[in-house]
Amino acid sequence: MGVSPGIGHGPAYVLTVSVPEPPEGATFTGEADQEKERAMAALTQVAGELEARGNRAGGEAEEILKAQALMAEDPGLVVKVRTLIDRGLAAPRAVFEAFTKYRDVLAGSGGYLGERAADLNDIRDRVIALLYGQVMPGLPARAAEPYVLVARDLAPADTALLSKSQVAAFVTEEGGPTSHTAILARAMGVPAVVACPGATRIPPGVRVMADGTSGDVRVEPAESDVADAVSADTARLSALASARGPGRTADGHPVPLLANVGGPAELHAAVAAEAEGIGLYRTEFLFLDRAEPPSTEEQVRAYRAAVEAFPGGKVVVRTLDSGADKPLAFLPAAAEPNPALGERGLRRFKRFPEVMEAQLAALAAVGAEELHVMAPMVATAEEAGWFARECRAKGLRHAGVMIEIPAAALRARDLLAQVDFLSIGTNDLAQYAFAADRQLGVMSPLQDPWQPALLDLVAMAANAASRAGKPCGICGESAADPALACVLVGLGADTLSMGAAALPAVRAGLAAHTLTQCRLAADAARAQRTAAEARVAARARLPELGRLGL
Ligand code: PEP
Ligand code: MG
Repeated sequence: MGVSPGIGHGPAYVLTVSVPEPPEGATFTGEADQEKERAMAALTQVAGELEARGNRAGGEAEEILKAQALMAEDPGLVVKVRTLIDRGLAAPRAVFEAFTKYRDVLAGSGGYLGERAADLNDIRDRVIALLYGQVMPGLPARAAEPYVLVARDLAPADTALLSKSQVAAFVTEEGGPTSHTAILARAMGVPAVVACPGATRIPPGVRVMADGTSGDVRVEPAESDVADAVSADTARLSALASARGPGRTADGHPVPLLANVGGPAELHAAVAAEAEGIGLYRTEFLFLDRAEPPSTEEQVRAYRAAVEAFPGGKVVVRTLDSGADKPLAFLPAAAEPNPALGERGLRRFKRFPEVMEAQLAALAAVGAEELHVMAPMVATAEEAGWFARECRAKGLRHAGVMIEIPAAALRARDLLAQVDFLSIGTNDLAQYAFAADRQLGVMSPLQDPWQPALLDLVAMAANAASRAGKPCGICGESAADPALACVLVGLGADTLSMGAAALPAVRAGLAAHTLTQCRLAADAARAQRTAAEARVAARARLPELGRLGL
């Protein structure tokens, strides 16, 4: 998976860190108080080192490392370590067990929080290494030429002090788009590929080329292939740099380009990428790690920050989408055999109406005309009507629903009679149209947003919206693919919303094609039988994409 675009090539530097697991049941000799002091001293020292590295690194790395330093001295973890030592465990084993338990809880929550689990492993290993008097392997300070850094996973502490002059690319076996390897690589402008199994078996020193856009990693590439990839990348960069301003097609048809965000920290990147507003505010990410419902003041602050970041721009906030892949502790789930088909999204508010009311009240308190509010996981017109009435009762003027369930796409007309706008979530629409769990890697071919059946459902909903004279946006990952973005516009999407990183490429692709070309590409894609054929047929009608290196 490419997570930081660009081509990087150079000799492989393979980082193999292994701090041994302290033996199960390992005990200590001497006093428990002394053992506890030893553990506390190691935690404090690691926190101090992380903080010092952060100060030297500055920028985004500083924030991340300071957060890690806080984690190292988290009061809950400290108490756990002390308790385990009181029960007779040696300091390294106590640290191992306390951190591992906490890590498993984080990993179980998936998504952004799940990817923080790697941070805890790194802190744990540093503390254990210190307790054993072991030196953590570092990175070469100076190399003859920039290297491709290959590792199982990279911790911010490893990478924070690196620069573009040392590292040509990152390749890791673990990690996802929101892992710190990805975040820091993007901040440094270094290409990165994550989730690349077997990468650490690349022999050290062998030449490697990593494509942070496509996710391709090549070992010993031909020199001509490197030259071709670099020149395509240069073309892509200059195309991206020259596409500015509001989204529109080559013939001037406006397509507002909006950003998907999960919290205030992501607003900055959205503004920097010239998003014209927010197309999907995933509010559940604000409150994932909480046992109590968020307070009204806290919510108002978060939503107001989004409105203030985009003066006059549209801001679409989605009410809490709890359940399945996004568990929220304060909205406990019933035991369900198929949580993705269970009490998820809007359905859960039937059992917890006070939580929805509180969220809508907080949104209303922001009092902004640009604020649009929509519900996830809506299946029927009755549900849409219920949600819209609740919004209006609070004085919210723009109430919409997401189209994520095939039934909703099929009867979009009925839903539109109840609400003011639609937003198509192609991630879940694909999951439910193909009965293919979006969390299962083996199902990913069925999750392919180029599937003609998915395009048909999008067309159906967009056409219904156009007939009703109401707007229809797209906010699934599909909008982040420059070719598919043109197709979605051809299918009738009025706005496109995506992760901020994808905005420049989508803006450039759209600006290079007319609305008619987008429509012809959409027709060509829908005329095919497979996702692969749909993609090829559409791209053949969007000739500028190849020239732009997109
Ligand atoms: C979607 O399902 O396409 C969507 C945008 O929502 P999420 O990915 O948050 O479920
Ligand atoms: Mg969804």
